[in-house]
Amino acid sequence: MPLIHFPDEITDFIQQGAIFYISHSGGKDSQAMYVELKKVIPSKQIVVVHADLGEVEWEGVQEHIRANTQHQMNVVQASKTFLGMVEKRGKWPSAAYRQCTSDLKRGPIFKFIRNDLKERRATIAINCMGLRAQESSARAKKEPFSYNKQESVNKRVTRHVYNWLPIFNFTTDEVFQTIREAGEKPFWAYERNERLSCVFCIMGCVNDLRHGAEQRPDLYKKYVELEKKIGHTMFTKGKEPIYLEEHIGIKVTA
Ligand code: SF4
Repeated sequence: MPLIHFPDEITDFIQQGAIFYISHSGGKDSQAMYVELKKVIPSKQIVVVHADLGEVEWEGVQEHIRANTQHQMNVVQASKTFLGMVEKRGKWPSAAYRQCTSDLKRGPIFKFIRNDLKERRATIAINCMGLRAQESSARAKKEPFSYNKQESVNKRVTRHVYNWLPIFNFTTDEVFQTIREAGEKPFWAYERNERLSCVFCIMGCVNDLRHGAEQRPDLYKKYVELEKKIGHTMFTKGKEPIYLEEHIGIKVTA
């Protein structure tokens, strides 16, 4: 089995009472990360957090997390919705400008971490994420363990926040193997999907988008209509915009 990335500092942080916040999307990487962290982090120092994206996430994902975790699932939600955010800005997010991740996931998760840490009177938070180097060249350049200066304070109140990517070096096969060996199954949509994210992710492949359109025709219609309304497309073909219906080859029926 692959070994998780385990920096030397983690042992000290455990002894100092650090809280390990596991960001759980319901996807395979979060699931495998939780399996692995349970083996090395004391249970009382683990907190599971899920950023709820509302109607744009796969139905049943929260039930899947609950069924495969022994910790309480803390659900956080931004005050705005994904589609509302797109409509207001008149543009879809992009790989370079991932407003969806920052505003709908990262923002609410860090807000939760700040409050929860304070309530526990703890001072060290480890923000654990299931990102992997194999996913993209941009991700491969990330540091698997780093100090999060922006979220840390060292004044009247002390808060040290670290970002940790424990399964950074896992391959996709190793992720599925980890889940299998724990006696669990990945979320059902993986039977057809390559990745599990929003049903229609701005970086999704045609295969996953098509599957989403088949499973969630009502939601698909909303995306297609919103593209037309704002006149900005989620995807481009070369440098030219391409509307979703053409991109994935599924027309919305009235
Ligand atoms: S899954 Fe895709 S669309 Fe959804 S928040 Fe993440 S990057 Fe944005």
